[in-house]
Amino acid sequence: MALAPPNPESGTDIFLWKHGEDDYQATFSASKTWDQLRVKKPKVAWSRVVWFSQGVPRFSFITWLTVKNRLSTGDRMRQRGLVQGCVLCGERDETKDHLFFACPYSYTVWEGLASRLMGRGINLDWHWTINCLQRLGEKRMDTILAKMLLQSVIYHLWRKRNARRHHQTWTTTDQLRRVIDKAVRNKIVSLRYKFDHKYGGLL
Ligand SMILES: [Zn+2]
Repeated sequence: MALAPPNPESGTDIFLWKHGEDDYQATFSASKTWDQLRVKKPKVAWSRVVWFSQGVPRFSFITWLTVKNRLSTGDRMRQRGLVQGCVLCGERDETKDHLFFACPYSYTVWEGLASRLMGRGINLDWHWTINCLQRLGEKRMDTILAKMLLQSVIYHLWRKRNARRHHQTWTTTDQLRRVIDKAVRNKIVSLRYKFDHKYGGLL
């Protein structure tokens, strides 16, 4: 389509913000503008397991790295010429799937904390665990609690694994479970849901 050349008789220039395809308005919207600029990719199935409003950001971040298989586990360190077995159980091959939760130490911690919530969803297999959480009703209290627990378990196991690598003191699975349980309780208290809130019964 040919555009007519600018003509002062048509009036003065005005600025408009693009809100969408063929949708220009005088008002600025940060979210609409961001939508125009960003590269859109399809939403990944696991996103709600990693990112949710009750999550602890540092736990979510480590969980995200785990889902993407970006933690520097033994199998990935080998590419840099380093040898690293599982420091929690002695297994030669330390992989993400081993740590979460094929490792007997990790599994004992996870199973002890989440078996009541996850029921048959409790499994050694990483993909099974993530799939199971993806399928649970997103807004259910049990689901939120299971996701909080999973992230707290991943975070604390990874920290424990790093501490062990640097020869720090041994922690029993019972001790670690208590630490994780407390971290989740603290988070729920900090959310300050009122008694009559739909998630008021989380604790
Ligand atoms: Zn292990």
